[in-house]
Amino acid sequence: MEIKRNILLNPGPSTTTDTVKLAQLVPDICPREKEFADLMHRLRQDLLKVVHASPDKYTSVLFCGSGTINIDVCLNSLLPEGKRILIVNNGAYSSRAVEICQYYHLDYTNLEFPVDELPDLERVEAVLRENSDIALVHTTHNETGTGILNPIREIGELAHWYGAVFTVDTTSTLAMRPIDIEKDNIDFCMASAQKGLMAMTGLSFIIGNKSLIEQSAAYPKRSYYCNLYMQYDYFEKTGQMHFTPPVQTVYAAVQGLKEYFAEGETARWERHLRVFEAIHEGLDALGFQDLIRREWQAGLVVCVKYPDDPHWDFDRVHDYCYAHGFTIYPGKISDMDTFRLCALGAIDVQDIRDFFAVFKAALVRDGVQIPEIDELR
Ligand SMILES: *Cc1c(COP(=O)(O)O)cnc(C)c1O
Repeated sequence: MEIKRNILLNPGPSTTTDTVKLAQLVPDICPREKEFADLMHRLRQDLLKVVHASPDKYTSVLFCGSGTINIDVCLNSLLPEGKRILIVNNGAYSSRAVEICQYYHLDYTNLEFPVDELPDLERVEAVLRENSDIALVHTTHNETGTGILNPIREIGELAHWYGAVFTVDTTSTLAMRPIDIEKDNIDFCMASAQKGLMAMTGLSFIIGNKSLIEQSAAYPKRSYYCNLYMQYDYFEKTGQMHFTPPVQTVYAAVQGLKEYFAEGETARWERHLRVFEAIHEGLDALGFQDLIRREWQAGLVVCVKYPDDPHWDFDRVHDYCYAHGFTIYPGKISDMDTFRLCALGAIDVQDIRDFFAVFKAALVRDGVQIPEIDELR
């Protein structure tokens, strides 16, 4: 079967291999069969290995939904009665966590920093010191809207020092940038199958501390569908998801994990990094500028400022690239005009070189000033 290969430079879902796409073509199976439970059991065990989590201390819990379900589940399930959540917020995904707190009427402190700056750890510590009711600290590892990498190990250390649980949204780093759950001071991390695992949308997972999940059995149940303990308990007792799992998506995730281990943690990270460097090389040559200081970037998302040129029209450039098999993505910052190019997915340096040939052709067509070309004139 011939499947057209599109290069997705959006921040997930990412470009997948054909073997992952085809892994979904399986005989029909009722997911309540033991065969399927065994498949999910192995998947849950293998997910632990991605973040070097020991099965004695950690577990993984699967959910049917996009990545946001994980943030929802962690925040609504892991907060004891009468306690407060601290969100260390320097971007769109931590702001989403704040909205989740609002929707569940949870007590929270939204400690905001500019989107193009790292959180100030002294301020984080001051808030923890002054608010002894904080029981959970949450932040985002790679803020996918800007590509900034947050110092999770340091934030986690502070959270633990003040007796709080640390949950991290690792959706846009897990299975790409190496994570060590214990060394990084993480109690709960999370992702969905369509990002680092380079599999399909619809399956999300939380990897975290088993005894903390067990403790949370006594916390208020704020959601029927999205409760961490209930889903964990159901898995432990029956090997099943509480409600119908995304069957074919699970097969694709199993294949995605197999390919992750075959490539290897280091080789995978090096590949993403060289794709990221190639993106920067291409942008530099055309005179584009980053939003985030280069040394603060996580190595996966490049957030690019619009050029100061009346001929620049993002949608026109997007449509030209799209027609040629390349997807670029708008920014996610309210008061700045940016777009994004991401180093996610089953792509390599040659794909980026091919992309820039197309991107440059779009700019030339539209008459956008390009330093590299202007020099030749
Ligand atoms: C992609 C992503 C999510 C999940 O977003 P969905 O739209 O629910 O798929 C959450 N957090 C981060 C940091 C992400 O990059």
